[in-house]
Amino acid sequence: MSEICSGCVGACCRQGMRVELNRAEADFISEGGGGLRSIVPVPLDQPEIRGVFVLTTDCGYLQKKDGWLQCSAHENPNRPRACLEFAAGSVACNNARLPRGIAPIPIAVIPVEVAA
Ligand code: SF4
Ligand code: SF4
Repeated sequence: MSEICSGCVGACCRQGMRVELNRAEADFISEGGGGLRSIVPVPLDQPEIRGVFVLTTDCGYLQKKDGWLQCSAHENPNRPRACLEFAAGSVACNNARLPRGIAPIPIAVIPVEVAA
């Protein structure tokens, strides 16, 4: 988990966030206790295709640990692709932070991976 997230409140995992999920990923979130509302349905005959959902509650996997809210399923291989690919410091990250009164992350603090 990115160190950037330690100053956050799990803003990207909270009620009201939109997320693309296939059927198995939606089930994973539901099994964790998170509420979901479908906006663009997953096709019944193509459960691997991603639909669009809104979290109607904070994600159930978001738990307080070491004094801050973080994903308790971070090491779980079944975590949705949307979670795996969500980048700390991205535009989407800052868009999640702002409504919760958390300052955007300046571009200068975002670690850059340089190929060797
Ligand atoms: S909104 Fe950004 S900083 Fe906050 S937990 Fe999500 S990825 Fe991390
Ligand atoms: S599974 Fe983890 S990363 Fe994904 S929304 Fe829930 S708390 Fe956030």
